[in-house]
Amino acid sequence: MKKYDYLIVGAGLFGATFANKAKQAGKSVLVIDKRNHIAGNVYTENIEGINVHKYGAHIFHTDDKEVWNYVNSFVEFNRYTNSPIARIGNEIYNMPFNMNTFSKIWPDVFTPEEAQKKIEKEKSEMDGKIPTNLEEQAISLVGRTIYEKLIKGYTEKQWNRECKELPAFIIKRLPVRFTYDNNYFNDKYQGIPIGGYTKLVEKMLEGIEVRLNEDYFDNENYYNSIADKIVYTGMLDEYFKFSLGRLEYRSLKFETKIMDINNYQGNAVVNYTGREVDYTRVIEHKHFEYGIQPKTVVTFEYPDDWNPSKEAYYTINDEKNNNLAEKYRELSLKEKNVIFGGRLAEYKYYDMDDVIKRALECAKKLIV
Ligand code: FAD
Ligand code: UDP
Repeated sequence: MKKYDYLIVGAGLFGATFANKAKQAGKSVLVIDKRNHIAGNVYTENIEGINVHKYGAHIFHTDDKEVWNYVNSFVEFNRYTNSPIARIGNEIYNMPFNMNTFSKIWPDVFTPEEAQKKIEKEKSEMDGKIPTNLEEQAISLVGRTIYEKLIKGYTEKQWNRECKELPAFIIKRLPVRFTYDNNYFNDKYQGIPIGGYTKLVEKMLEGIEVRLNEDYFDNENYYNSIADKIVYTGMLDEYFKFSLGRLEYRSLKFETKIMDINNYQGNAVVNYTGREVDYTRVIEHKHFEYGIQPKTVVTFEYPDDWNPSKEAYYTINDEKNNNLAEKYRELSLKEKNVIFGGRLAEYKYYDMDDVIKRALECAKKLIV
């Protein structure tokens, strides 16, 4: 029986990065994934000549030059800058919160000073209190008017909990800018891989044995016997047979339609921030790559309660779940031949660049 240096469970970005580095170091590697495709949640599929982000909109952004150079060594990235539109009822606003948003919300606001004054006045209801939940965090950032129009409905649909019961960190990453700049991210580097993310991951896995439709838990003893080390990127609690209890997640439902028109909404991402519709985002995929195809493909994204029969898209990093994840992490330290990495195995709300950075660090430290 062939014995590999590494068995990698999961062909997502963590698995693919680690596999790529291990191969480069001359190690033998087998990658398995229970899905019928590589690339995990960044998988894109070509439909009508358009690269469709099958698991939701993915925009690559990073401040880390090493990560940026690394992904660019496989494929070229375009100049896409994420600038979503928020729609509530029949009103449209620019995101993230910037002078375009403020001047439309408050028609008497034209300058940064006027916007700051408005927000300061609205923030005064916080009375200098340090925010302890998402609602308070939002009001301290942008005031109650914007909170109620652009944050409350979206967030409560997304997490199925009241904003008062959610941790503040969830929206800390949203920029607030007093310039007329609609760029959703502050990072230095941003773009979409030309030709889609699947192409990126295909290149990362070039020359590496990959087996699809194989679930590690269907034959754990066999998989453990064919490799010296395992890189595990699945759910942290599942690895330990949920012995300490279950971690919680949020799921999503995607409804994708091919439309016989060339432009449905004029932007790749439109956020629906009100309760009048159940979806949170509508994605028009062609606009990620400035497509000029005759048809268009559009995905409606609905938040969904998670249960074990559904995909776990978001970790829920509140105190209860973080404490449980920490206990599982203590157990994971005892698994000497297993490396736990990625969004699910570390139970962290990681972006793509965080995942690649972690995998590069693990590879540097652990591949000997
Ligand atoms: P995954 O991509 O989940 O890969 C894990 C793989 O392991 C999966 O393919 C799974 O099938 C496989 N697996 C699990 N268990 C087993 C098993 N038992 N046996 C075999 N295989 C198994 N990040 C950004 O930077 N920008 C964005 O715009 C962005 N948008 C996002 C939008 C949505 C809706 C979501 C959900 C996430 C978004 N992200 C974004 C985050 C990004 O998707 C993740 O950071 C990244 O994909 C995580 O990679 P990973 O390898 O850790 O996990
Ligand atoms: N959010 C919001 N209104 C929006 C977009 C985002 O209130 O129009 C909040 C919401 O709570 C969400 C969080 O900001 O969970 C993070 O949004 P982001 O788009 O960064 O999340 P992701 O792409 O990870 O779903």
